[in-house]
Amino acid sequence: MSLATETDDVTCYTAESMVARLWTTYFKTDEQTREFWDQMIASRFVKCRWPRVYRRPPKLKIMHAMPYSKTFCATNRIELALFSCTDWDICHEFAHICDTSKAHHGPMFFDIQLQLVGRFISPEAKRSLRYAYLALGVL
Ligand SMILES: [Zn+2]
Repeated sequence: MSLATETDDVTCYTAESMVARLWTTYFKTDEQTREFWDQMIASRFVKCRWPRVYRRPPKLKIMHAMPYSKTFCATNRIELALFSCTDWDICHEFAHICDTSKAHHGPMFFDIQLQLVGRFISPEAKRSLRYAYLALGVL
């Protein structure tokens, strides 16, 4: 996958924020965040599509004192700032983990994000996200 197909972060985040404000669930406790996470990484959906990640799932760390912009993922962990303890942000970071391309926000990332949103948030959210990606020229 070529880096030429990379979508800039601003466009990616704009597309997601257009849709996420309608569909996001903010988890109010760490337990709710972990419940969503645990169900996702243990799901048959993830097992079938991303067996490598299913076998060795990243650790989820909730960083209460970390600013939103510092939410990130590495191959073995996701660190969520308090305000990114949402189903949407978890899907976003997990999509990075499952993405094996060299692009950061590239076609494979967007495909995975659509799949995760459709399965773990709702089919309507997936459809809305797809429209937002199309509107901004991401897809
Ligand atoms: Zn990202």
